[in-house]
Amino acid sequence: QAKSAGRDTLQFFDPSMQKAVSARVEMEKDMRLALERHEFDLYFQPQVQKDKVIGAEALLRWKHPVKGFISPSVFVPAAEESGLILPLGEWVLYAACRQLAQWAKDPQMAGLTMSVNVSPRQFYQPSFVEQVQQALRVTGAPPRMLELELTEGMLLADVEDTIRKMVQLKAMGVIFSLDDFGTGYSSLSYLKRLPLDKLKIDQSFVYEVLSSANDATIARSIIALGNSLGLQVIAEGVETEAQREFLASSGCHYWQGFLFSQPKPIAEFETWTRAYGAARSERSHV
Ligand code: C2E
Ligand code: MG
Ligand code: MG
Ligand code: MG
Repeated sequence: QAKSAGRDTLQFFDPSMQKAVSARVEMEKDMRLALERHEFDLYFQPQVQKDKVIGAEALLRWKHPVKGFISPSVFVPAAEESGLILPLGEWVLYAACRQLAQWAKDPQMAGLTMSVNVSPRQFYQPSFVEQVQQALRVTGAPPRMLELELTEGMLLADVEDTIRKMVQLKAMGVIFSLDDFGTGYSSLSYLKRLPLDKLKIDQSFVYEVLSSANDATIARSIIALGNSLGLQVIAEGVETEAQREFLASSGCHYWQGFLFSQPKPIAEFETWTRAYGAARSERSHV
């Protein structure tokens, strides 16, 4: 009895492991094809100050021909692991810069910044600075309106190299924000050394800002920290007016979240933004 149960357990365990591995292999294969077949797309989510849109975050979308939309929180880590994030990340950078170049020619949209998520592997490439420079040059996008979103962990892997890369890009005008702030391990001394422009409060703190005293305290502390370091603090994942009000009363005046708009395809984003009102003066909000 015990023996057969053991065998059953083994038989049950094995195929599921295999299934997970082959699912990953299949996803990698599908992603390679997807790049060739242009199945990836960018959506844009507004970033808001008072009653104006000040920028957009470009968010990758993958519509699989059979499986439909697959979440980037599923396929981005797989792409990071397999190395596919390199061609994929470069595609995102060019697509976002092409859009930014379009906006530069449109008086109503020319005041918007474009935020692009950068993955660790992408940032670690020795040629990362040249890659961004080239994307800006080839597309004609204004460097001062491009914002790169980095995450805490990746910045600390090699702090000197990180600072060197950031300084080179900042010399061209590029803006840097620290994404998902509060979820990583950056020490405050590093935070002071890195040439950052913005902090993005992770949505996990925003989510419970009204129901959890701890999250409220963390959110308030991040805002105070960012403000005292002279950084612009933006909250992501703002879903309710009550959350927005709490954040505003704590000194955070830049917001992104479903309260305003979900990420949308470009035409819908532009329609929404024109109706809501876009910031005019170039980078007055940075
Ligand atoms: P992220 O950079 O922190 O992006 C914010 C995520 O929060 C987005 O999820 C966005 O749709 C979602 N979000 C925005 N407002 C709200 C809200 O009010 N409520 C809730 N519940 N969610 C909200 P998304 O688009 O699924 O992206 C997930 C993650 O995938 C991103 O987190 C980012 O880490 C990664 N990602 C997305 N696009 C790219 C990309 O082009 N390159 C890289 N390297 N990573 C990307
Ligand atoms: Mg982001
Ligand atoms: Mg984030
Ligand atoms: Mg996140």
